[in-house]
Amino acid sequence: MREDNPLLGDREIPDFDAISPEHVLPAVRSVIAETRAWVQARVARGAPYTWADTVAPLEALDDRLARIWGPVGHLHGVLDSAALREAYNATLPELTDLHTELGQDRDLYQAYRSVLEADDGADPAARALLTQAVRDFELSGVALGGEARERYREIARELAALGARFEENLLDSQQAWQLQCSDRDRLRGVPGQALSRAAAEARSRGLSGWVFTLDHPAFDAIISHCPDRELRRAMYEAWVTRASDQGPVAGLHDNTGVIARILALRHEEAALLGFGDYAALSLVPKMASDADAVERFLIDLASKARPYAQQELTAVRQHARAAGCTDELEAWDLGYWSERLRETSTGISEGALRPYFPLDAVLDGLFAVTTSLYGVRVQAAAPPARPWHPSVRYHQLVDTDGAVIGGFYLDPYTRPGKRGGAWMDDCLTRHRSGAGLRVPIAHLVCNFTPPADGAASLLSHDEVLTLFHEFGHGLHHMLTEVDLPGVGGINGVAWDVVELPSQFMENFAWTREGLDRVSRHVSSGEPLPSAMHADLLRTRHFQSGLAMLRQVEFALLDLRLHRDYDPGQGARLAGTLAEVRQLTGLLQRPPFERFAHAFSHIFGGGYAAGYYSYKWAEVLSSDVFGAFEEAGVLDAETGRRFRETVLAVGGTVPPADMFRAFRGRDPQPDALLRHSGLLGEPQAAAP
Ligand code: ZN
Repeated sequence: MREDNPLLGDREIPDFDAISPEHVLPAVRSVIAETRAWVQARVARGAPYTWADTVAPLEALDDRLARIWGPVGHLHGVLDSAALREAYNATLPELTDLHTELGQDRDLYQAYRSVLEADDGADPAARALLTQAVRDFELSGVALGGEARERYREIARELAALGARFEENLLDSQQAWQLQCSDRDRLRGVPGQALSRAAAEARSRGLSGWVFTLDHPAFDAIISHCPDRELRRAMYEAWVTRASDQGPVAGLHDNTGVIARILALRHEEAALLGFGDYAALSLVPKMASDADAVERFLIDLASKARPYAQQELTAVRQHARAAGCTDELEAWDLGYWSERLRETSTGISEGALRPYFPLDAVLDGLFAVTTSLYGVRVQAAAPPARPWHPSVRYHQLVDTDGAVIGGFYLDPYTRPGKRGGAWMDDCLTRHRSGAGLRVPIAHLVCNFTPPADGAASLLSHDEVLTLFHEFGHGLHHMLTEVDLPGVGGINGVAWDVVELPSQFMENFAWTREGLDRVSRHVSSGEPLPSAMHADLLRTRHFQSGLAMLRQVEFALLDLRLHRDYDPGQGARLAGTLAEVRQLTGLLQRPPFERFAHAFSHIFGGGYAAGYYSYKWAEVLSSDVFGAFEEAGVLDAETGRRFRETVLAVGGTVPPADMFRAFRGRDPQPDALLRHSGLLGEPQAAAP
């Protein structure tokens, strides 16, 4: 069995195309059993405990489990199938049980505490790891006894299953609907790349005309570009009712009950651990002090953004009217007319920009920026393990001294069975042991439109930003100099700081210096002309008030759903959203909209009572970029300092100290407001 199971092989990373669903459960079970046996034996020997005889071997077992479960979770995200999903779901409870069991093991807890007490502080990484481990024992209910202990375990198990269920419903509901149209005239204005893909979708389904699926590129093509109001409404309704009790596939993959249960269980879990609400529990390991501080932060941003947003909405309405639209603007019209206004007022259209951003050129430019900032070169290389799909690429990072210090898989294109959105995940975390140095490897996953018939894949500027964003996470993971996986890269980094390196990188895709490297016209090879760059810069502030309000809306909804949960009243999704929208909503939303049902970040991912992290970290990332603006955008010395003080340190330095080490002072929100165009008096939009 063992020889046949690639997950149990000797290699650090198994060949992804060799992993089958039937490998999953036996491999995970085998390492779970090994871990349990080791812990039992170690605890039976009793104190004294040391780093070398307790912490190091347990961390190694944890790492081994991560190297088995990591590829499984990754494939579940990028190449899902019924059989893999079944194997994943069958394994998840056993893994959750192990984590709960270890987290509640009082002997282990005492062992870590005694090692921490004896620690002399000589190795800051070890100290950070021990400190965080002790805290995590406490947040896992190590102090609970009897029934409460058992209850905690049940909750953890059910929550893990519910998170997976939430994502399944979302994926299934997306795949249960399509928009078919045979009338070319109704699709005029839809970008060519989206049309070719829709035609290919139709052919592959044996249908005539064009088929738009419910993924983000297709959604955006219709919502922003299709002049036909009925098609836009159909697409909008399907999108905002995904996995809910409303819309074209109402009730088929409904997350209503899943959400209600998740919120109830999280509240109960927090109460068991002695917290008043789940938000209080969620904030313990974060940089923000408490939920009220987060709420004040968000409301302050909303109040700054609101007057701008009001102006922006008026401008869209006026523009639509001037263009002959006699209808009152509905939610499914806003994207379309905003895009028309954006083209008019900024002089630029997404269609005109895409040819300047072929994926390969953008990657070359991104790598050139990386070299300028940090000295490292990025080059194509043979992957350490065979990938899961032919479109996946592999690159490695080479430091100034010629040493390979990291690598990444890039999975760029959208396809059936692949989760939407974009993300970075660790494939292998840096580790130094007696056997030498193991370099970190990242997964970068995007959902760009695949190239049609040998043509290049052309990115929108938004997608260029996405690539820079995920690569920023990737650099955080790959440029770490911490040798312990538990606190290396993004591990152990406060959740509301994790988005600092990613959002920081986005800034370069706005600058002349960055765009000179990133843009290369697909036919002429020319970089983006200066006039178009000036137009593009105007788009940066275009509707930034509305965008800020939208992000604050998501964050406040998340925070209040968790902070204000009352078991007597249940989930209160609609009520809470209505209250939040008194602060953030300017446009009436249709009654069928079910936004929370697709809010993966907080119900399927790790952002519960933490969605505010994006804005929190953006204050930090904008302020960091301010230092580059002061020194010269690609200033190598500032880049070196950023690499050393932020990217290299992983979770070993408290976030406030880390920020001060780079910036020489505490963070200030001015740079974010300036970059967003939200300083000074709001101006009426250009005609
Ligand atoms: Zn991110």
